[in-house]
Amino acid sequence: MTSNLYFYRQRLLKLSTLFALTCSALFTGPQAAAQSAPELSLARLDCGTPVPMVVARFNDTFAFTDKKLTFTFSCYLINRGDDYFLWDTGHAMTAGVPAPKVSIVDQLAQINVKPEQIKYVGISHYHADHTGQANSFPGATLLIGKGDWEGITAPKPNVGANVAPFAHWISGGGKLEVLPGDKDVFGDGTVVIINTPGHTPGHHSLLVKLASAGNVLITGDLTHFQENYANNGVPSFNYHRGDTLASLNRFKTAAANLKATVIIQHDARDVDKLPAWPGFVK
Ligand SMILES: [Zn+2]
Repeated sequence: MTSNLYFYRQRLLKLSTLFALTCSALFTGPQAAAQSAPELSLARLDCGTPVPMVVARFNDTFAFTDKKLTFTFSCYLINRGDDYFLWDTGHAMTAGVPAPKVSIVDQLAQINVKPEQIKYVGISHYHADHTGQANSFPGATLLIGKGDWEGITAPKPNVGANVAPFAHWISGGGKLEVLPGDKDVFGDGTVVIINTPGHTPGHHSLLVKLASAGNVLITGDLTHFQENYANNGVPSFNYHRGDTLASLNRFKTAAANLKATVIIQHDARDVDKLPAWPGFVK
């Protein structure tokens, strides 16, 4: 009897230990995972003063010939744990009418972020309204499409390539990663620079996967306004028409599959999907 009772007690002990272990795994597992994954947030910066625009030249099939819109100039800041990623750098402060009222550096100062804290600067493409303040972040790793980098660094740079802000990286002084395709910035799929050539040879867009706000796809200049996006409009000044259409197809299919919020960087109606600086979404 005694030995039977002993084994019964031992079995109970094992079962209760197993139960306790299972419970602790159930209740601490997800919490531990949540604690180890850095929090991600997305904010929009004002990177130029909005301007009225006759949009005819943004469509090479003669749609919207009389249409006028206001074009905004937007950049984006992603914070992941201690890391900061800046997407596009807007107009230079010397750009005249469309120049920003407040520089990116001064906007960042409003949330106590110093230029040295920007780990990555991602560039959608080499045009002046997306690259003007890149030289404010010489300590950042520059992430830029291969076709655009080749256009910037060619002996005779591509038409529209804004070379000057990249002097620091051209000289070899800055960290540089030239992207032949997509780039998973943090290696966990939350921030992915998406290869969408056509507007320029190395044009890219940006995917951000937020925990609460969901998936966000930021266009770069794959498209410039909602009506053109809906109609697969191709600007008459694009580098490659066929690549643009293929990129639009990829981007739209991805947006549908990911149920993503699409933000067209130049469309005032789209940038308002995010709160005004220094507001952010998570
Ligand atoms: Zn642009």
